[in-house]
Amino acid sequence: MTNRVYNFNAGPSTLPLEVLQQAQEELLNYQGTGMSVMEISHRAKEYEAINAEAEASLKELLNLGDDYRVLFLQGGASTQFTMIPMNFLTPEKTADYILTGAWSEKAQKEAVKFGQVHVAASTQEGNYVRIPEFNEIKLSEAPAYVHLTSNNTIFGTQWQEFPGFGDVPLIADMSSDILSHPFDASKFSLIYAGAQKNLGPSGVTVVIIRQSMIDQAPKSLPSMLRYDIHAKNNSLYNTPPTFSVYMVNLVLRWLKAQGGLTAIGQHNEAKAALIYDAIDQSSGFYTGHAEKNSRSRMNITFRLPSEELEKAFNAEATKQGMIGLKGHRSVGGMRASTYNAMPLAGCQALADFMKDFQRRNG
Ligand SMILES: *Cc1c(COP(=O)(O)O)cnc(C)c1O
Repeated sequence: MTNRVYNFNAGPSTLPLEVLQQAQEELLNYQGTGMSVMEISHRAKEYEAINAEAEASLKELLNLGDDYRVLFLQGGASTQFTMIPMNFLTPEKTADYILTGAWSEKAQKEAVKFGQVHVAASTQEGNYVRIPEFNEIKLSEAPAYVHLTSNNTIFGTQWQEFPGFGDVPLIADMSSDILSHPFDASKFSLIYAGAQKNLGPSGVTVVIIRQSMIDQAPKSLPSMLRYDIHAKNNSLYNTPPTFSVYMVNLVLRWLKAQGGLTAIGQHNEAKAALIYDAIDQSSGFYTGHAEKNSRSRMNITFRLPSEELEKAFNAEATKQGMIGLKGHRSVGGMRASTYNAMPLAGCQALADFMKDFQRRNG
């Protein structure tokens, strides 16, 4: 009917089929308005309802109360790299960064432009194959905040448990694993994520922020870069990316219908296990990039014995309807992104293909 492939792209990435179908059904006439959701005003009650439901669903899924706000911003996670130090890094303080991959490096490099920065831990040695142990993290004397990247999309590592630093605000880039498993979100003062991996299409960035952080923005900052302005205006200070927020809202409804974070966490665990088992049972034909206790359940990175075999693997997988498996150039090899919307059957198909490919080429 639809000729859909199993889409292992890292982002933009696969979306739930049911969500795409619902968007298709209501594309021309949203809730009897006679207009597409793309054509209605962002001040219309229909859009305000989407905006409010999406905020409420995110808080419900993360078990957060009235001391948090959810903002729908633009500029991608990359703009958050800049907004965070602009809003929170004061001259007397230091911004502490834990480096676990390319995205945390980028976040840290932006902060350097605005003040003092301290690298609290780094696993760059060995090309980011792991997450640091808690006792490797050494904070500065006066941290304004600690920043970490919960899942390293390129290297395929993921924090299995989060550290806490008492009163020091903890900030996380969760672009590639937000809402993929249960965790204590109240540990964090700010969580941000570009939507295009686990939440919806590109164009919107979700920011979950503790109320007490909102008013720290220096009044001299450009309005569009101030969290307080966006919060006061319910993310409607300027025209938001309305269609992207609408899609995120549908994805959140879908996620609740799946049973929320506990259920999706178990599902993601089972999906990743199929592929990791194929790696671990290959007697070294496939080698994972990440150390076992740092493995990501969202981005699975592995190599084959030669680049020639990697090319053949990718080409054959594509022919069989499994696309987007070529790894990032800084790691090489293959990367299977297995976000929430990737069905178990997709991971099973890939694991079966891996075994078959090894049998023919091993
Ligand atoms: C993709 C990604 C980004 C970049 O997101 P943009 O929305 O393109 O700016 C940042 N951090 C992580 C962890 C990512 O996976």
